[in-house]
Amino acid sequence: MALNLTIEEIQNFKGKYPKQLWYLFFSEMWERFSFYGMRGMLVIFMVNQLNMNAVNANLQYGATQAFVYAFTFIGGMFADKILGFRKSLFWGGILMIAGSIILALDPHQFFFIGISFTIIGTGFFKPNISTMVGRLYKDDDNRRDAGFSFFYMGVNLGALIGGYLCIAVANGSMLSSIVPEHLRWNVAFGFAAILMVISLLTFIQTQKSLGDIGISPLLAVETSKRKVYEYLTYIGSLAVIPVIILLVSNSGYTDMFMYIIGPCSLLYLLFEMRNFSASENKKLVAALVFVLFSIVFWAFFEQSGGSLSLFAESNLSKTVLGVALDPNGVNNSANSFFVIAFAALVGLVWLWMSKRKIEPNTVVKFGLGFLFLAGGFYVFYYTKFFADANGVTSLDLFTFGWFVITFGELCLSPIGMSAMTKLSPQKVQAVMMGMWFLASAYGQYFAGLLGANIAGASENSTNLEKLIVYADGYKQLAIYALIAGVLLIVISPLVKKLMQEVR
Ligand code: GLN
Repeated sequence: MALNLTIEEIQNFKGKYPKQLWYLFFSEMWERFSFYGMRGMLVIFMVNQLNMNAVNANLQYGATQAFVYAFTFIGGMFADKILGFRKSLFWGGILMIAGSIILALDPHQFFFIGISFTIIGTGFFKPNISTMVGRLYKDDDNRRDAGFSFFYMGVNLGALIGGYLCIAVANGSMLSSIVPEHLRWNVAFGFAAILMVISLLTFIQTQKSLGDIGISPLLAVETSKRKVYEYLTYIGSLAVIPVIILLVSNSGYTDMFMYIIGPCSLLYLLFEMRNFSASENKKLVAALVFVLFSIVFWAFFEQSGGSLSLFAESNLSKTVLGVALDPNGVNNSANSFFVIAFAALVGLVWLWMSKRKIEPNTVVKFGLGFLFLAGGFYVFYYTKFFADANGVTSLDLFTFGWFVITFGELCLSPIGMSAMTKLSPQKVQAVMMGMWFLASAYGQYFAGLLGANIAGASENSTNLEKLIVYADGYKQLAIYALIAGVLLIVISPLVKKLMQEVR
């Protein structure tokens, strides 16, 4: 592997993708493997092992997800100011490993401590690896969106396998002959730790070919002083863990936290903007438009973990194209499966279009993302017309809905990450990526509220009545998504102006 590459050598790569993208792809794949493995176990562990009721477990789960993504903003801030992307990522990885080991030792007793480590760890890891992908490209390189689409495939490869394997170990459908029953959960959480170790080992290799991408932003500062800042960051992030334990274990605090973190992040950005030129600030405003719209997107999309899984459980048949499958399994994994199948293809379509100078710009891609989202939810609504008298409808059609939504996700999620790296000045790159994920935190949060509304409206009804309430709820979401998509396309000239030369 070539060492000491300059940034020009890295960015002047030939072909479609820089080779470093592969390495980052694998580090992120293992991290998501661990993350989604852990995520998949949470609700079931809380209900079956901690004896929580389903409503509380769901609230707790939503709170955990909101916190995980909210801390990416804070992780990004420390990466930009003190640690740099690499050390940040590494520190985050170590905290995630510590969290999984704590859970593996005694998941019953140490549940919230372990989860809190994971929350902070992901905050330091997740925004920074994505930011590094952006640094592989020159400002005006039109291969960037395709690169992010490819990277997104790694995200979903990890998510799909991890989400399946960890829970399979925990519930005994895998490795049951080797792992004694009372230790299954310990082993499953331990498994997440091992995957994260692999992610960090992969990253150690990756670092060698990254030139000076992601090194400390404080190189101009004396080494001893820099070390003090770094150690303070490490110590501070450990010291804050008891507070996070308190916040996460009382889901009532989530609302409060969500009210505070968003406005604070905006204030922080405004404060940073005072030093940037008018042109840089216009780009940041454009980035904020994308962040705001993405909240709406994720609020609908994340129905997957909430109302759609209840819908899948009660109202869907059990075969896809004649093959017997569990509807909830399909609801959980169809989307990742379609991302893996089509992400690279969508990336190649962008490259093909860009060669012919017909590639849509970021705003239009976002708009398309919403149109696909609307289409997918309309398909979910349409399942109502295929229901039998017991309120059971077609899993085939439902899966097709996910197929359509996945194209929306591919127009928005990797493109959004790419846009954050294009539109932010060097000094706030990670924090803007953090804001991108913070939008996901809000999305998760609102998804819970929306889902609870839909579920609440169908309490004490027959299965068929339930199906109708859910389907009508999805029709509403389809209409809102359509409006958001059209609105984006209508305001696209304005946003394009703010973006200036960025496409
Ligand atoms: N599924 C993607 C990931 O895990 C996107 C998450 C998000 O932004 N909500 O990276």
